[in-house]
Amino acid sequence: MARVVPVIGVLALQGDVREHVRALEECGARAVAVRRPAELAAVDAMVLPGGESTTMSRLLVTFDLLEPLRARVADGMPTYGSCAGMILLAREVLDGRPDQEQLGGLDVVVRRNAFGRQVDSFETDLDVTGVPGDPVRAVFIRAPWVEKAGDDVEVLATVPDHTVSGAGTGAAAGRPVAVRQGSVLATAFHPELTGDLRIHALFVATLR
Ligand code: GLN
Repeated sequence: MARVVPVIGVLALQGDVREHVRALEECGARAVAVRRPAELAAVDAMVLPGGESTTMSRLLVTFDLLEPLRARVADGMPTYGSCAGMILLAREVLDGRPDQEQLGGLDVVVRRNAFGRQVDSFETDLDVTGVPGDPVRAVFIRAPWVEKAGDDVEVLATVPDHTVSGAGTGAAAGRPVAVRQGSVLATAFHPELTGDLRIHALFVATLR
């Protein structure tokens, strides 16, 4: 039965868990840390935080969460992944580790650490479909981009032309960095770090 206030789990194996919990609660959701299969079973939705996708992949196996989480995502559980979370949700990863596990849910190919060393962290303003008002200040930290997206994937934001003029990043402009497919949302950037709640609100709104 649907709860009045949805309970959103934040995968708490590694990464910026607290920031997501705070942002979700400020949006009026209940947020809880998820580390165990029983905790996963008790939530309505999940957020996969930024961090390191290879480490999270390994910890998902160690904590017996990989298969249950895959099954929930495949079953249509609303899921939002930021940065490393986007990588975990992708069908395929370029420049990943060969043993890195994918949750699936997003019919995209992502390139890990795509922006290269010169600009491995940067900020820019993004127009995001579904987010009214001012552009979103987007913080990218060793971020991926979407290299290929299937027909059912809606691109919500792309890297603007002027963003990254650093060496080796000519290919960045126009790359998708926010996408949605069914109940799965993903951003290559970290809205949990800026205090702008609009991306979390967009996700929470899909649960109501
Ligand atoms: N580069 C990291 C990875 O491969 C992602 C970085 C992040 O989440 N800020 O998982």
